[in-house]
Amino acid sequence: MTVTVRFAPSPTGRIHIGNARTALFNWLFALNNKGRFIQRFDDTDIARSKQEFADAILYDLHWLGIFPDVTDYQSRRFEVYDAAVERLKAAGVLYACYETPEELDLRRKVRRTRGLPPVYGREALALTTEQVVEYQADGRRPHWRFLLPNFSSDPRQPERTEIHWDDLVRGEETVDLASLSDPVLVREDGTYLYTLPSVVDDIEMGVSHVIRGDDHVTNTGVQIALFKALGAEPPVFGHHNLLTTVSGEGLSKRTGALSIESLREDGIEPMAVASLAVLVGTSENVAAAHDLAELAGHFDPAATSKSSSKFDPAELFVLNRVLLQRMPFDEARDRLMVLGISGEHAEPFWLAVRGNIDRLADAVAWWRVLREGPQEKPEFSDDDRDFLHQALDLLPEEPWNGTVWKDWTGKIREATGRKGKALFMPLRLALTGLPSGPELADLLPLMGREGTMARRP
Ligand code: GLU
Repeated sequence: MTVTVRFAPSPTGRIHIGNARTALFNWLFALNNKGRFIQRFDDTDIARSKQEFADAILYDLHWLGIFPDVTDYQSRRFEVYDAAVERLKAAGVLYACYETPEELDLRRKVRRTRGLPPVYGREALALTTEQVVEYQADGRRPHWRFLLPNFSSDPRQPERTEIHWDDLVRGEETVDLASLSDPVLVREDGTYLYTLPSVVDDIEMGVSHVIRGDDHVTNTGVQIALFKALGAEPPVFGHHNLLTTVSGEGLSKRTGALSIESLREDGIEPMAVASLAVLVGTSENVAAAHDLAELAGHFDPAATSKSSSKFDPAELFVLNRVLLQRMPFDEARDRLMVLGISGEHAEPFWLAVRGNIDRLADAVAWWRVLREGPQEKPEFSDDDRDFLHQALDLLPEEPWNGTVWKDWTGKIREATGRKGKALFMPLRLALTGLPSGPELADLLPLMGREGTMARRP
């Protein structure tokens, strides 16, 4: 059977780093198993779901290097869910309930005071035809619950019923169906909650592995029961730990915290995001992978921790610097061109500055320094100014070769007796206006003789 996974966000906001973790776990799992990746938008909540968010999520996934084999929307598949509802009703495992939220709340309180677990007591199963007629006459419409298979003959007498699965991440997992309320699958207004459409789609789309956040662990017990009620073999499940902010708060699509969009706008490379999103909270070292294929080689769902992991954006910059430092010109060329960096100097320029930038766009400031000179005129002591005048008088004539910097500074050392910092710092300041940066040996040829002379203080 072909491995088939899906990433199933609700398009109610931009995805954040935690969602990206789920998407990437699925994508890398598919990559390692020659599988298919389905992009499924769980947009049954028509009021909150928006096409613009779905489009933005696809954009973010593409940016990360994820290109789904199939994209589908639950809002286009209601008749498939309607058919499943009919099957469940016919099998007697979907039943109508008429309680209001207030009534349910009251019942829960009563159960608690009686020392019973606060689950739904299945009172609706005991409704008489007259009561149902009465409710309907009052204008009440039913919501529909799935009868969990947690009893032998009397549903009002649930018994401990363990559902087991071997979780890809967490190993052996057990959920007791008697500890859960029969889940509502269809609301009063006929709309679907997440559970049924998700299971129906996983069946119809041939999903073999469901990989998602561990906030869904308890849902899995219910879902396995539902797969079986619909006559299907449940898929393999894997629940990865969730990411939190550094202060331990959960991430939310709505607050935009650590959204992929904001990280992109901050100039973080997609592979920095992907590497950290996948490797944080696992037993693997967090290191920047060049591409997703390389990252897939470090990906092992079973190596993921069971407790939540803190996500520190500062770590992204560490990875970003490593990726930029290693980035060949061919990979940077188009992006530099968009930033106005092109021509014969673009490649040597990139090779000179790539080790000294936090973001690719930081190259612009260096390009400007090279083209226009220091952006702020450096201040020099009389001593240093004399030294610089002497130094510039020694600047070799063109054409220059690869050793011009070495030759020039050799001559300066000889003529002035200065060495080390006393020699290099005034030169660096005069040429770039900044106390640190790329190797001057690499920058000097890019300034040329004329450009260098123009920097005479
Ligand atoms: N729409 C669900 C969510 O975003 C999908 C969960 C699942 O993968 O089954 O939480």
